[in-house]
Amino acid sequence: MTDQACDQCPRLFTSTSSLERHKEDAHHDQRFLCDTCIRLFATKQDLHEHIACMWFLSMTLVMIYLTLCISVIYINVMLLQIYIQLLPRLSLTIKLGHLDPKSGF
Ligand SMILES: [Zn+2]
Ligand SMILES: [Zn+2]
Repeated sequence: MTDQACDQCPRLFTSTSSLERHKEDAHHDQRFLCDTCIRLFATKQDLHEHIACMWFLSMTLVMIYLTLCISVIYINVMLLQIYIQLLPRLSLTIKLGHLDPKSGF
């Protein structure tokens, strides 16, 4: 007969009933804590699933954030290119005296 291992501590039991009794006595109030969001879970499995879920969620958020950052950089580069293209024309306008001193320019 194989020993029944407790999944919440390293103890072994000769029967399922003694394992069940041990779980009731020793692990009745035990909860598994996620130290990221201070949530309690009844079993280790629940906690692991929650951590995997949170990891996936945070990775998704990181990916969205990076995509947004890249888009912002891309837009800035585009605007800079447009500005560089317009710059000779703008300086020509200034040289030709098209500025009004009263506008505070
Ligand atoms: Zn145990
Ligand atoms: Zn959590």
